[in-house]
Amino acid sequence: MRSSIRLGRIKGIPFKVHISFLFILPFFAIVFGFTHVPDILGFQLGFDNLPISWPVKLGLGLIASILFFTAVLLHELAHSLMAIRHGYKISGITLFIFGGATEIERQPKDAVGEGIMAFVGPATSLIIGVVLLPIWFLLRDAPSLGINIIAIMVSMMSFYNILLAGFNLIPAFPMDGGRILRSFLARRIGFIPATRTAVVVGKAIAIGMAIFGFFYNIWLILIALFIYLGAKEEEKSTLIGHTLEGITIGNVMTSDVSVVPPTMVVRELLDKIMMERHIGYPVVHNDHVVGIVTLHDVQGIPASHHYTTEVGQIMSRNVVSVGQDIPAMDALQIMARQRIGRLLVMEDQILIGIVTRSDIIRMLEIRSMERGIPLGRG
Ligand SMILES: [Zn+2]
Repeated sequence: MRSSIRLGRIKGIPFKVHISFLFILPFFAIVFGFTHVPDILGFQLGFDNLPISWPVKLGLGLIASILFFTAVLLHELAHSLMAIRHGYKISGITLFIFGGATEIERQPKDAVGEGIMAFVGPATSLIIGVVLLPIWFLLRDAPSLGINIIAIMVSMMSFYNILLAGFNLIPAFPMDGGRILRSFLARRIGFIPATRTAVVVGKAIAIGMAIFGFFYNIWLILIALFIYLGAKEEEKSTLIGHTLEGITIGNVMTSDVSVVPPTMVVRELLDKIMMERHIGYPVVHNDHVVGIVTLHDVQGIPASHHYTTEVGQIMSRNVVSVGQDIPAMDALQIMARQRIGRLLVMEDQILIGIVTRSDIIRMLEIRSMERGIPLGRG
């Protein structure tokens, strides 16, 4: 995830916080410390009623929010450890505004494993919440202020962990419940139809939640939007990943690469582009790739400079290369992350091909027609 700060490692898994988290932590501290939250189902959910000064309330609120996000981290850690047990590689855990996310490097194919992986997160939250319940009941009516504070802390952690478990069990992508549902369906109807059904269920829940939120609680609309977009994203990436399965860069790249020297002037480059109808070229000097130049780099160069400006002056030096054995899906993700449209394919420092986003999209379209999987565009 972009814009994240790395905090450390737990059992070898890097964990990061997204910058949105730096705003949400003080926000939670204030909500937990001051807002008079109506006590729900007998739980005490804030420190506002206690006879203490405001800095103490703020401090307690901060401790409560740190405890809460520690619980979120435990939830994510449960997902990660179970994923590792199933042989997946975890690139990290990120805490962000909506909670946490475990980044798995590959799309899960093993549907049963995915269900267990998804289930252990909410299960962990539920266990934390339920274990704290009796402690809350024991401490709740204590006469001392110190024990009162601990009791409220326990009450809040119990309530919010149970809420976290419940929220994540909603059977809609991108919640854990959506994955559990897909895994359950996949055993009966297959992975792709299961994904589609789970996406439809997720979207329906999101729409229902938005309508309900419109009348009762405006925050639900935001959560509904998050779920709706998450469901769509999941559908797209699952279908693309599945369709491109087994396709490597070697299958889609252009091996006959046309290159240009850094000393070529823009006018010559434009002629070459018109003749060959490529829009990007690797720039090669003494058999080494030194950059990449595209039609985009030429834009903004006035026509009067076309005979004097050399490719070496306008090319991009950020050359991203891959090996020919990497999956096409991974190449798509690299291009999306780096915001580039083409990758050079290198083997032992030698340029052996070039692959563009459209090469992969074309393969995707051909495959989806062959297999009768409608992908949609966009
Ligand atoms: Zn989860």
